[in-house]
Amino acid sequence: MKLKQILIENREKLQLIYGIFLIVLIPSLIAYNTLSIINRYNKSIDVSLQREALVVGRSIYASLEEDLDNPEKMQNQIDRISQKGTEFENIEILVPEEKVFKIIASSEESRIGETIDFYYYQTAWIQPDGDGLATDSLKLAVTGKEKNKSMKYDQSDRFWLVALPMQDENGNRKAILSMKLSSKIIDDLTSDNRNTSLLILITTVIITILFLSITVRLWDYVVLYKKIKEVDQMKDEFISIASHELRTPLTSIKGYTSLIMEGTFGKIENERMKDSINKIWTSTNRLEGLVEDLLNVSRIEQGRLSIDNQNIEIEPVIEEIVSQLSITAEQKGLQLVYEKGKDEMPKIFADPEKTRQVLVNLIGNSIKYTETGSVIVSSEIRDRKARIKISDTGIGISPEAQKNLFQKFYRVQTDKTTKIQGTGLGLWITKQIIELMKGEIYMESIEDKGTQVTVVLNIADDKKS
Ligand code: ADP
Repeated sequence: MKLKQILIENREKLQLIYGIFLIVLIPSLIAYNTLSIINRYNKSIDVSLQREALVVGRSIYASLEEDLDNPEKMQNQIDRISQKGTEFENIEILVPEEKVFKIIASSEESRIGETIDFYYYQTAWIQPDGDGLATDSLKLAVTGKEKNKSMKYDQSDRFWLVALPMQDENGNRKAILSMKLSSKIIDDLTSDNRNTSLLILITTVIITILFLSITVRLWDYVVLYKKIKEVDQMKDEFISIASHELRTPLTSIKGYTSLIMEGTFGKIENERMKDSINKIWTSTNRLEGLVEDLLNVSRIEQGRLSIDNQNIEIEPVIEEIVSQLSITAEQKGLQLVYEKGKDEMPKIFADPEKTRQVLVNLIGNSIKYTETGSVIVSSEIRDRKARIKISDTGIGISPEAQKNLFQKFYRVQTDKTTKIQGTGLGLWITKQIIELMKGEIYMESIEDKGTQVTVVLNIADDKKS
């Protein structure tokens, strides 16, 4: 529990550390992998180069074998081989003289007669199998106790040094064949490969770092999204509390205003006072409508709006609403009629209170947004569904505005609508309620011609489907 608390409190720091950890770890793993591949490749190349050096050494040995006792002839052969290619350098024949080796034939003739005290030759000489040695110059530079002073152990000019003991027919070791085999071509090739691999590695690392930094930014968005949700929830709670708190004083204002209007505290003679009280009454009603809308929004958003679907007769409900709203319609000089279908409507399966609320809102809107003409309500059964249509000859809605109609707080902004009061919550609430009752709502409208709203509800027999 404590650990969870610490994790939650330091969430942002932990996310940052995690991001940095990934940014370091992933490129390092890629780098390690690439470098170890290059290393393994180099090692296997070295093994085959060593074999090749010995093979070359033996083939030269074979061409000199017959003239083992004749240094002059061997010298001629060496000169011939040296002219052939630059790959073989420093071909020399050395014979042991006490603890040192004396050069008796060499591709560099000036060196004939020189003595060399070289640990490497000693090792090759005493080898029991007599197969000879082939070692990379860099290794010789590191491990050789005594270097052959005539050779350069240069990093950029690596070579293989072959030392092969030469024997006569009786198997007696007579001399050592020493030869340098340049590994320049292979080295150039491997360094080319290594450079390409390193370039690919660097590119991969850069791409990975960029990708990871985007991912880490994604974390920011996740955090931001969560914060927005929290704020949204706080807003919902605020609306819910505020509208609840507003309801109590509103009921009291409405109650007292109603008592004053009824003359409970004495007849109101003054016309201006009468007019003012009427205005208070209208405004209070509007405010009550707004509070009710807000309460509905918060109930729906918090999933607290309970729906109690029952088998209900819809026609009497529509008739009652139409008669109730006809006063308002008449005041505007509008015709409000309910055109019943020819056939009797079966019962529908819906919440009676919510259905009433939905129809009052939709018919009320039609009256509100119609200047002249009529509002016609009709009902019918089609495809085993009850369809209630509300058609008006009002201001209509443009195609662009229709796209946003069922959004919360959306109001169409035109010259005609600015004069009409509203919150833009009615249609949103209506749609939510209808959908909670498993119904549908459609709106068709032509600007300056009129609007037709269709509410589709399930009939009682369909409730289980
Ligand atoms: P309001 O409180 O603004 O009436 P509603 O959610 O009920 O909010 O409606 C949203 C908008 O849709 C209204 O502002 C109005 O412009 C438009 N509207 C709704 N019903 C009709 C209608 N019958 N005729 C024309 N416009 C309508």
